[in-house]
Amino acid sequence: MDKVMAVNAGSSSLKFKLYEMPEEKVLCSGNAERIGHEDAIFGIKWADQSEKKVLPILDHAAAVQLVVDALIEKKIIKSMDEIVAVGHRIVQGGKYFSHSELFNKDTEDKIESLIPLAPLHNKAHLVGFRAFKKILPNVTSVAVFDTAFHQSMEPQDYVFPIPYEYTEKYDCRRYGAHGTSHQYLSQEALKYLKDVKHPRIISCHIGSGASITAIKDGKCVATSMGLTPLGGIMMGTRTGDLDPSVMNYLCACTGKSVEEMYQIFNKKSGFLGVSEVSNDSRDVLAAVEAGDPKAILANKLFIRRIADFIGQYYVRLGGVDLIIFSAGIGENSYEIRESICREIAPALGLEIDYELNKGKRGVEVVLSKPESKVKVVVIPTDEEVMIARDTYSFYKK
Ligand code: ADP
Repeated sequence: MDKVMAVNAGSSSLKFKLYEMPEEKVLCSGNAERIGHEDAIFGIKWADQSEKKVLPILDHAAAVQLVVDALIEKKIIKSMDEIVAVGHRIVQGGKYFSHSELFNKDTEDKIESLIPLAPLHNKAHLVGFRAFKKILPNVTSVAVFDTAFHQSMEPQDYVFPIPYEYTEKYDCRRYGAHGTSHQYLSQEALKYLKDVKHPRIISCHIGSGASITAIKDGKCVATSMGLTPLGGIMMGTRTGDLDPSVMNYLCACTGKSVEEMYQIFNKKSGFLGVSEVSNDSRDVLAAVEAGDPKAILANKLFIRRIADFIGQYYVRLGGVDLIIFSAGIGENSYEIRESICREIAPALGLEIDYELNKGKRGVEVVLSKPESKVKVVVIPTDEEVMIARDTYSFYKK
């Protein structure tokens, strides 16, 4: 009975999910938040139970110890030896990783060298990895990269039109993100494409962070996020793609520094910035219902940006067989799904069952009618199970 832990370590948080493999049965999941504080929070869910407590968690190692102790105490596992492998989500794998990799000195060094590209994330992932290594020194540790799936892009899809010297010297290029999710979704979607020889998929991972990926024959050919997750479509608090001169102009107008404006582009823009209501699409939609003009504009802008990328990728793929909606908004907001479909339907020949779409939240469903030129489906994403699968395959090697 092999157990595999999927881990997502942030700078002050540590999310975990324990699987029994190869069955992919979820044994428990949980989260340590506010690590480094006296009033940190530890939550765990197992079987049909859950527990949440406030306590001091001074560092990630303390958080990992808490996880392991809880697993034994709640009788989720009998001994630590049952955990055979731990898979760590790593946001930035740069040009080095086109698939998951065993954690060794070289992997660790490369992730460390990529910290300038993802300062908060990669640093936190290494802290998480080292904390697990300390407490479970003998398990197989695997790094699963958010960028790996996008490494199959061609240079004309990932090179920015800046002096080539910068591309070479500083590795400044498009890496994308959410790769684990897009890969999972494209694999899950194959059951809808059994009669298609070379499947062309547009995968829309639309949550607070949002990205769209074009996938041909199981490989990513284009993705909307850029050097960092700031690029691409509009998001909860991020701008998505902007004319670069917006930075200069607004710094000159406001007297703010580039760094301050960069934070605004990341944390105060998108739904939140335009609507001045909220970064949460539910609040924005409620304000749309109430007739708030800025919320209406924010929602229209969001839909338009997504439709534009779908159009772009339709051309990039030479047509499309299947469009997937996923993540917080894609899985749950049938209103936004309907708006996107209505916007792209005439050009793409979509025939959507809008009645069926209505009220569907968090479930897998085919939205297109049989006569539609393109299939449209909702598939709930599962990045953790992808991490567990990849990690387990290294353990079994
Ligand atoms: P991230 O993982 O990037 O933080 P999520 O995938 O959790 O983001 O998506 C968050 C978004 O999903 C929010 O805008 C929220 O409004 C939307 N969302 C989540 N649940 C629901 C729901 N039940 N109904 C409508 N929208 C939802």
